[in-house]
Amino acid sequence: MSGPVFYDAGARVGVLTTQPIDRILTYRAPEGGCWQGAFVEVPLGPRKVIGVVWGAGEGGFDAAKLRSVIRVLDVAPMREEMASFLTRVGDYTLTPMSAMLRLATRAPGLMDPLSMRKVYRASGARPNRMTDARARVMQVLSDHHGLSFTLKELADLAGASPSVVKGLVKLGAVREEETPRDLPYQPLDPTMKGKELNPEQSDAARTLREAVKGGSFKAVLLRGVTGSGKTEVYLEAVAECLRKGRQALVLLPEIALTAEFLKRVEARFGARAAEWHSGVTMTERRRLWRMAGQGDASLVVGARSALYLPFRDLGLVVVDEEHDQSYKQEDGVLYSARDMAVLRGSIAQALVVLASATPSLESWANARAGKYTRLELTSRYGEAVLPDMRAIDMRTEDLPSNHWISPSLQRAVSERIAKGEQALLFLNRRGYAPVTVCRACGHQIGCDHCDARMVEHRFLKRLVCHQCGETKPMPEACPSCEAEGRLAPVGPGVERMAEEVAETFPDAKVAVLSSDLFGSARALKEQIELIAAGGADIIIGTQLVAKGHNFPLLTLVGVIDADLGLQGSDLRAAERTFQLIRQVSGRAGRADKPGLALLQSFQPQHPVIRAILSGDEEGFWRAEADERRAAGVPPYGRLAGIVLSSANVEQAFELGNAMARNDGPLRDIGAQVFGPAPAPIARIRGRHRVRLLVKADKNAPIQAALKKWLAPVKMKGDMRLSVDIDPQSFY
Ligand code: ADP
Ligand code: ZN
Repeated sequence: MSGPVFYDAGARVGVLTTQPIDRILTYRAPEGGCWQGAFVEVPLGPRKVIGVVWGAGEGGFDAAKLRSVIRVLDVAPMREEMASFLTRVGDYTLTPMSAMLRLATRAPGLMDPLSMRKVYRASGARPNRMTDARARVMQVLSDHHGLSFTLKELADLAGASPSVVKGLVKLGAVREEETPRDLPYQPLDPTMKGKELNPEQSDAARTLREAVKGGSFKAVLLRGVTGSGKTEVYLEAVAECLRKGRQALVLLPEIALTAEFLKRVEARFGARAAEWHSGVTMTERRRLWRMAGQGDASLVVGARSALYLPFRDLGLVVVDEEHDQSYKQEDGVLYSARDMAVLRGSIAQALVVLASATPSLESWANARAGKYTRLELTSRYGEAVLPDMRAIDMRTEDLPSNHWISPSLQRAVSERIAKGEQALLFLNRRGYAPVTVCRACGHQIGCDHCDARMVEHRFLKRLVCHQCGETKPMPEACPSCEAEGRLAPVGPGVERMAEEVAETFPDAKVAVLSSDLFGSARALKEQIELIAAGGADIIIGTQLVAKGHNFPLLTLVGVIDADLGLQGSDLRAAERTFQLIRQVSGRAGRADKPGLALLQSFQPQHPVIRAILSGDEEGFWRAEADERRAAGVPPYGRLAGIVLSSANVEQAFELGNAMARNDGPLRDIGAQVFGPAPAPIARIRGRHRVRLLVKADKNAPIQAALKKWLAPVKMKGDMRLSVDIDPQSFY
């Protein structure tokens, strides 16, 4: 690769903009010229928009008619590495480059001039006339030798009014200066000592450190049971990365996990990591985006979109809980952050660590094929042992109707509470009841806009559609037969479990952990801390609790409905059930107390339930891999989901049928088209959804074929088409 090119003033440059135009536009370089990769402001019709100088512009236009780049923005130019990452993600996911550039510029105020602020520090001179207030200001400055403060900080610290500080400026005793508002992050100290590692941990840490030292791309699957110290181990890789002066990125699947992680980083490196996720303020986003580009943010912890930050020198990417579904972006640009992290790392010559107790089948297969190095942590740190796992055969349990905690589970919970330990009841269903049915006519209340049932949320006192978010009050009368007072909840959600728990264990302190019960990430974090400190005897939780929170007193996990995920036709149903139940069970007995996991099941002989109980994970993965290989589905084949949506269902089918008939480009690569068929969720927000599925060999050039196939497709009216390469869920 040659270095970036410089374009002299007036030269033709090609500019990629964030506007939905699928072309590189040609402009003239501004006065002073510009580098390839420069972020620029360009005129587009009557507007001014952001763009990036992508390369040389096209010739053949009347040069006099070309418009000129307005100016070069005051941010670090896009590196070639980033340009190539965006191009490859765009090609892979069939996403237009303008949309890719929007992902890479998700920070406010990029067009604004560098924002400055005034700061104050000692000039070295003494004021010729002292007052008490002046003396206090001078004292603060000498106490914090060499530091500068904002006007408010200095005045507050000195207990003086801002005018006193201004007066000292006039007298020459205090210096007023302009500095950029966005300050670098406090540097992390990689020389601080980490925890003493056990032999298995230090072997794994050494491999990671050496990979970072080597400075070239490598992908590692770090597999270790919950509590085995994966985090401690990859923090050693972070330390090495910091020592080399390169930047590190840690992706977490859930914002609620960042607080605990930040604390550990602070304890390990003496300063906080920079954060990037939807809960971060606009000012902080702007700061991080700029600092990442300058190399002044050495460790970033964030959500999947942090992959598109303009790192100056990325040396390490960690994807923690790599199997987590939330790494797959499900709207806008459809990409898997796990796969794209590997791509980003390969372009940046970085180490990529995928950490999980229950890896995705994709990563398992990549490790097996030798593409990823596999590191194992087989035991929990310290005394902690893996929980004992048993099934409760619900066919033999005596339960009154509308109750879900079997007598066996009740006994186990009572025992634990009596010992001052905690029990977790896991049910992956938000709300009070998943179905509301009319006892007079059998009607089930559904969403008016979606093909989904409304879920009763008593806490909110409303029915909620989990598909589109629509809510409505619980009606008095059945919307279908108008019978009054006959509507009844069917089945349990976590809120209903809370009722049953209160009835069964009247003296226990109960906490419910469900994402919708908390107004803010902070409230959720407080609840989690409260639980960790022993503020609850029984925790009732959705899959939110599966994600790596530490509850030292928790020794019993009861899975209310272990069969729940096994229903449905999803390709990954078995894999997900296996992962989720293993993860949740792993919450039990982290400290010095042995844990127990009890799975309530009506089919304890089901192969997935048996695999979970036996703990034969390799056996489970091999069986699952064999099935997928035989079916030619991922990771042994390629799939692409195409969804057509429109208010008019006939038109959607018509177009789908036409596409299925004209499948020449797909047949050319040996791919097959299935459908059109109604999508599993056939209507969302009033739009009908029709789905085609393309299946190809693993090595077939599916993107190129899809492009050729889709090129002549005309979208009329409100029709929309979305392509999902490697779909994770079928909806
Ligand atoms: P994982 O990421 O695999 O779930 P963690 O790294 O969070 O595991 O470790 C679980 C707990 O054990 C944490 O509280 C961690 O600080 C502690 N721990 C792990 N390894 C060590 C060690 N070598 N020395 C001291 N504490 C450790
Ligand atoms: Zn809806």
